Amino acid sequence: MFGKLTSFLRARSKERKLAHYAIPDELWTHTVAALPFIQRYDDADLTTLRELATLFIANKEYSTAHDMELTDEMVVSVAAQACVPILKLGIEWYRGWHGIVLYPGEFVIRKTIQEDVGFEDIGLVHGIEEEASGEAWEHGPVILSWQDVATPGAGLAADHALPADTYNVVIHEFAHKLDMLDGEADGVPPFSRVLHPTINPEQWAETFLTEYDTFAEACDAVPDRTWDHPERLPPRLQVIDPYGCEAPSEFFAVASEAFFVEPTGLRQYWPTLYDALAKFYRQDPAERY
Ligand SMILES: [Zn+2]
Repeated sequence: MFGKLTSFLRARSKERKLAHYAIPDELWTHTVAALPFIQRYDDADLTTLRELATLFIANKEYSTAHDMELTDEMVVSVAAQACVPILKLGIEWYRGWHGIVLYPGEFVIRKTIQEDVGFEDIGLVHGIEEEASGEAWEHGPVILSWQDVATPGAGLAADHALPADTYNVVIHEFAHKLDMLDGEADGVPPFSRVLHPTINPEQWAETFLTEYDTFAEACDAVPDRTWDHPERLPPRLQVIDPYGCEAPSEFFAVASEAFFVEPTGLRQYWPTLYDALAKFYRQDPAERY
């Protein structure tokens, strides 16, 4: 009885949000036109994506830094890109946090790192500053550089020449958010018994971490001077951002960028990883090419 009432109220609230926050046609068309990897979805998926983006806008709180004016274009572009990974998962996968903070460009992250110097009770505390285009806080906001959101990678060049431009800061940070749903980011997202009945979580984690080891070893084997000429890297290191070798959590984020922006390249050079991501996201984006 109560269950029925709750789902009735939830449906009413969803309908109200969809009506109240509806994205105007022209703005939606304009947003999709600027994002090649989204244009490849069929009409049914685009309708779902627009609905998810609307709920996303209703549920999240946007703010800006440095007095940058927040425009509808910004709000919808972030929402549309952020909802691509949850297209077949649902809006509740972004539960538990609210804030989206947009900076005009790259911003500085300050971290303090305690260094163990081997003496008891003595630790050096360093303040480190890093330039970043995005950051995702566990249970907290997603911070994005608008400049980077507005110019995402377009995948392979028209002549299909590598290296592929898979850069997408929104997919990257929201992949971290999905990873963090079950605690600290470790590269292995949670799975749902209803949505992922065929996934064995331990097996998935083992497959993913083996792919990570292979990637990190392949990156280590590259001579230093070759990094200045990405076109000379082996093709399988050109479809995933080398930043992924930092940690399994970063590998999950950059592999997710490649999965959505350059799916055919990822499937060709990393079929096992592609398959693992396809099972988690419940999408097969390479099929649309
Ligand atoms: Zn990251």
